[in-house]
Amino acid sequence: MMNFVMKHKRAFIVGGAVLVLLVGGVWFLNNLPDFAVKMLINTAVSTNRKAKHFEEDALYVITTGTGAPLPDPNRAGPQTIVIAGDQILVFDAGPGSTRQLELIIDASSVDALFLTHYHSDHIGDMGELMLKRWATSGPAEPLPIYGPPGIEEVVAGFEAAYQLDKGYRIAHHGVEAVPPSGAGGEVHLFDLGTDLMASDVVYEEDGVQVIAFNVDHTPVFPAVGYRVTYKGKSVVISGDTIFTESLIHHSMGADVLVSEALNHEMSSMVSEATRDFENNASLVAEDIKDYHITPEQAGIVARDAGIPYLLITHVLPPVPNQILVNPFLRDARAIYDGEVYMANDGTRVKIPVDSEKITIVELLKK
Ligand SMILES: [Zn+2]
Ligand SMILES: [Zn+2]
Repeated sequence: MMNFVMKHKRAFIVGGAVLVLLVGGVWFLNNLPDFAVKMLINTAVSTNRKAKHFEEDALYVITTGTGAPLPDPNRAGPQTIVIAGDQILVFDAGPGSTRQLELIIDASSVDALFLTHYHSDHIGDMGELMLKRWATSGPAEPLPIYGPPGIEEVVAGFEAAYQLDKGYRIAHHGVEAVPPSGAGGEVHLFDLGTDLMASDVVYEEDGVQVIAFNVDHTPVFPAVGYRVTYKGKSVVISGDTIFTESLIHHSMGADVLVSEALNHEMSSMVSEATRDFENNASLVAEDIKDYHITPEQAGIVARDAGIPYLLITHVLPPVPNQILVNPFLRDARAIYDGEVYMANDGTRVKIPVDSEKITIVELLKK
C-alpha cells in the first residue's frame, strides 16, 4: 500500500489539493462573506447601465422586444429603441418590454414613445414604461407619446389603471422625489388620414427626424410605420403590416429595415398541430397569416428599397429552437443579397454616421 502511495505521490497531492479546493469552494459559496456580496451587487448595478454601448456618434437600433402575442420564453412583446445623438426614442411597448429596456438603458432616459397601432401586443407595457420613467427619476413632465388617432383613449386608460399606484408612490416617496405632474403620458396625436401612401414628419428635435407613414394591417386602422433619420443615416420600423408599396416607398435608401415577419408555412404547421386543442390556437394561427408580412416579402422590401440590412422582429410563430432560425429566414435570404438577421431581445445594431460599416452585438445574451 505504502509503495502504491509513494509511487503515485504526485497524483495524490494534486488530487488532495483539488478536493480541498472543491470543499473550500462549496463552503465559500454557502457562506459568502459580505465583501463578496457587495462586490457582486456593485458589479450588477454598474453593468445594468450600459451607456458605454452608445458612446460613438451613430444611429443605434436596439430591439428590446422581438416577440408577438404568442408566448415565447425568450421574447418580450414588440419594442425597438432608437438612440441618436443624445435622444432615446422608443417604438411600441409590448408586454414585458420595459423589463428588457431597463436592462439596457435607464427608463428615466427615454425621451419619447411612438406607437405603431393599438393591438395589445404593442401597448401592453405602456403603463409600466410610464411608471418606471416617472418613479425612477421624478421628471416634472409626463412622457411624450406619439401616435395616430385613438392615442388619447389608450393613454388615458393606462393612466386610469395606474392612478392608485401613483397615489401610493407619492405618499411613500414624497412629491419632490415623484412630482405628480410627471406621471403618465403627454399625448402627441398625428392623423395621416386614410391614404395608404400618406406620411408626415411627426417629430423633429436636435437633428433627429421621425416620419410616420401609413401601413396596411386591415382590419386594424390606423396602423403606421416609422422612419428615423439622424445625420444622413436612417432606420425604418415597419410596425405590423402586409407587403405594401407604402413600406417600400418610405424605406427607400434606409440603412436598416426593422421588419416584422410571419412565416406562413410555420404558422400553418402550428395551426395543424393545435387543431384538436379546446381553444382558439388553431384558428388564430391560420387567421393571422392575412395581416402580416412574410420573411420573403420583407426581403423584397429591403431589396427594392436598396437597404443593406434587414432585421427581423415580431417573430411569428415563435421559434422554439435556434435550429429553426435559418429555415424561418430562408425565403428572405433567397430573394435578397443583404444581411438578414433575426433580432433577439437585446440585439444592438450600430450605424456609424461616418461609415457604411453596420455592426451588431447582443447585449442581453449570456
Ligand atoms: Zn403585433
Ligand atoms: Zn398588430
